[in-house]
Amino acid sequence: MTTDTLFARIVRGEIPAQIVYQDDEVTAFRDIHPAAPVHVLIVPNRVIPTLNDASAEDEVLLGKLFLTAQRLARELGIDQSGYRVVMNTNADAGQSVAHIHLHLLGGRRLTWPPG
Ligand code: 5GP
Repeated sequence: MTTDTLFARIVRGEIPAQIVYQDDEVTAFRDIHPAAPVHVLIVPNRVIPTLNDASAEDEVLLGKLFLTAQRLARELGIDQSGYRVVMNTNADAGQSVAHIHLHLLGGRRLTWPPG
């Protein structure tokens, strides 16, 4: 399992990003191509390539990704207007970076179903 993904380099500070939160387990940063006024990616610092690769030992970490999204939605002022949290998995969903990440999207009316 590679530890050298694009997002691992962002976590380690080797590639610049607009980091909005970081601790020992998770890092959140602005998406370079925002699809909404608020578009933040929340990643575990440790590489899990896809959701398919997560296991029971990742249970707390996966919960932390969601609770980080909840807190950032509040801090970024979209918790009441509304937001979407998405994790794409593999080709049909359009996953382009093999390091799981939640997209936190908000600040405009989002359409459903997604394309
Ligand atoms: P996926 O398509 O894998 O669900 O999402 C990957 C996301 O990473 C995309 O929304 C893309 O815009 C974003 N992204 C790709 N490269 C970079 C980068 O170098 N920096 C940042 N901040 N975001 C990136």
